[in-house]
Amino acid sequence: MICSKCCEPAIVSQRYSGKHLCQSHFVEDFESRVKETMRKNDLVKDGERLAVAVSGGKDSTALLLCLHKILDGRDVELVAITVDEGIAGYRDDTITSARAITSCLGIEQELVSFRDEYGYDLDEMVQGKEVAPCTFCGVFRKKAINLMAKRMGATKVATGHNLDDEVQSIVMNYLKGDIERLMRFRPRKVQPGLVPRIKPLREIPEKETALYCMVNGVFAESRECPYASLSLRADVRDMMNDLERLFPGTKQSTLQGFERIAKTDPGKWTKIDLASCGICGEPCVKEICKACELCKRLKI
Ligand code: SF4
Ligand code: ZN
Repeated sequence: MICSKCCEPAIVSQRYSGKHLCQSHFVEDFESRVKETMRKNDLVKDGERLAVAVSGGKDSTALLLCLHKILDGRDVELVAITVDEGIAGYRDDTITSARAITSCLGIEQELVSFRDEYGYDLDEMVQGKEVAPCTFCGVFRKKAINLMAKRMGATKVATGHNLDDEVQSIVMNYLKGDIERLMRFRPRKVQPGLVPRIKPLREIPEKETALYCMVNGVFAESRECPYASLSLRADVRDMMNDLERLFPGTKQSTLQGFERIAKTDPGKWTKIDLASCGICGEPCVKEICKACELCKRLKI
């Protein structure tokens, strides 16, 4: 197959756009879509110290590579935060990859671990308990990243969430009927103590983040976390992949449809002031934050 923009062989076929792209036009397309997401949402301003959450997996590695390139020449400092949740046989390898890519790009990196922040690895937290590991992992990871971003003096945190992640979260919240959580996807008021988060890859399909790493000569870890299959997300992912195969463009239209609904009624979430957790002082909606609530449930 030939590239839709030149005579070179295509390395990717975007069924949702109808385009076939060669290596250089794929890179150009990828970076221009990330730039456009950042421009239209005004994600990064000059003078910022942007902390990129880098796990060493394909999404966050693609994000770091892309931001390093497209922000070159701008007055934006990139730093990296890597979280060690403590998942045996999985996280050690991705941390090695994260260290390699940050040192190759000359980017300051800090590691924060569940063991240091909460006293236990994720494996220990969930062992023998009837709990969903991803719920605990997600909540504790968010808090750990926020704490480290503040320690590093970051003005924003960029995460590697891609189109597939965004669509899965939207559909999961629809399926659970959790509209409040769904609306938290919208940009919210700047809150004291909460470093704003941005998702520059939210319109890029997952397959393309892996390809972007490869064409940049980086073979990021793509093994799946051993807990991933235990979550509702895994079923929603398979369902959305099936739909995308049958009806190309379904993922984009799900995200765009949500954006249109959310714009008609931004809801109270975009306006409320967060409180401080009565235990740890981190910003939260209720009297204590979700992480402290989960620590209580785990009796840690
Ligand atoms: Fe954490 Fe679940 Fe992701 Fe594994 S799959 S890293 S447990 S959120
Ligand atoms: Zn707390």
